[in-house]
Amino acid sequence: MSRSITGTCLCGAVSISCGKPLSPGAYCHCEDCRKSTGSAFSVAIPFEAAEFRVLSGETRSFTKVADSGNEIRRHFCSSCGSPLYGTSPSTPAGSM
Ligand SMILES: [Zn+2]
Ligand SMILES: [Zn+2]
Repeated sequence: MSRSITGTCLCGAVSISCGKPLSPGAYCHCEDCRKSTGSAFSVAIPFEAAEFRVLSGETRSFTKVADSGNEIRRHFCSSCGSPLYGTSPSTPAGSM
């Protein structure tokens, strides 16, 4: 698999390119992920920060310290609110 993974938010304003996954994804059932997705869990796949790009559109973000003590910054579309990706000091880039 040599091509980057790309995706857009619900309204299409934001498009992102993620490079290649560093490892398989994981489900997270913590309260923060349940609330931020409006679902029973989120899916997180780690990516290299250097290969991660916002190609177009404007994102906003919300930062919260998780129960683990890690600071998680969740980025979402400023127009439609779709969750796009998360970053933290310990894992510089990740995608939902
Ligand atoms: Zn959008
Ligand atoms: Zn979580």
